[in-house]
Amino acid sequence: MNKQVFYHDHFPYSVIFDKQILLQVLQLCKEKMPLETGGILIGRYSEDGKKANIQSITGPPNDSKHGRYSFYRGVKDLSLQLSELWTTTGEFYLGEWHFHPNSWPIPSPTDIKQMKKIANDSKYHCPEPILFIVGGDPNNQWFTSCHIFLKGDSVIKLVEDS
Ligand SMILES: [Zn+2]
Repeated sequence: MNKQVFYHDHFPYSVIFDKQILLQVLQLCKEKMPLETGGILIGRYSEDGKKANIQSITGPPNDSKHGRYSFYRGVKDLSLQLSELWTTTGEFYLGEWHFHPNSWPIPSPTDIKQMKKIANDSKYHCPEPILFIVGGDPNNQWFTSCHIFLKGDSVIKLVEDS
C-alpha cells in the first residue's frame, strides 16, 4: 500500500498520507536543514468527517520566517491559492506541517497555541486542524508525529500504522 495511515485506538479519527506526499515534505525539510520550515496540508475528509485524506501540501509561503528553533508560517497568497484549489479540485485546508531539525517531533507550546488559534479562526474553515511534524535529520534518521486539535480543548496524538 502506498499510503501512510495515522490512527487512534480509542477515537475514530485517522489521517491518511500518500507516501509521495511524505517524500515531498521530507525534501522540503532537507532543503532548509538546519532551519525550521513548514507549510500547509490540503485534502478532503471522509463523509463522516473522521478520516482526513492529505492530497497535497504547500511549502512555506514567501513571507515565512525560518529560525533554528522557530518557524513563522507566512500567509502570502495563501488564501488565493486555497480558494483556487477549492474551486478547481474541491480540496481544502486540513492543517499544518512543520519541521523540527535535529529534534523530536513533539508540538511545542507555541505550536499548540497556534493550532488552537487556527481552529478558532473562521478564515480557515477548519475547526479540527491536523499538525504533522517531522523531527530529526531527514537525510538520516527522522521521526514523524501527527496530532489533531479537537473542538473544545483536547489534542489527540495519532499513532503510525506500520
Ligand atoms: Zn514546532
